[in-house]
Amino acid sequence: MEKKTRHYEFEGAVFDIPMFYDERMGRYIEEYRNFNENPAWTADGYPITHSVEDACPWGEWDNPSRCNDCGSCRFYSPIAAHTRIGVCRQEKRMRANKKCSQEEKPN
Ligand code: SF4
Repeated sequence: MEKKTRHYEFEGAVFDIPMFYDERMGRYIEEYRNFNENPAWTADGYPITHSVEDACPWGEWDNPSRCNDCGSCRFYSPIAAHTRIGVCRQEKRMRANKKCSQEEKPN
């Protein structure tokens, strides 16, 4: 099966996402990379994430009973309807704060 990628350019971020063909769904699907291990940022320094990524300690939810992933966090901003990729608008996770990690706890 032919290898495909989807090219993204938004807010100064530029990267390709590989896609694989899902036989059951009958279409190509994005294969998301681990943005914690291989990060990308917007030009302003906001980190790129995807909606099913596990929540970080700085996440906040309007509805606490929902699943705690990036997609349910109030700082998550999807970039388009066809993808789960989005931008995290939490200032504590911006590139200038590179010391942030999943292990650190907010004050
Ligand atoms: S603050 Fe950002 S990284 Fe943390 S859970 Fe919310 S969207 Fe995800």
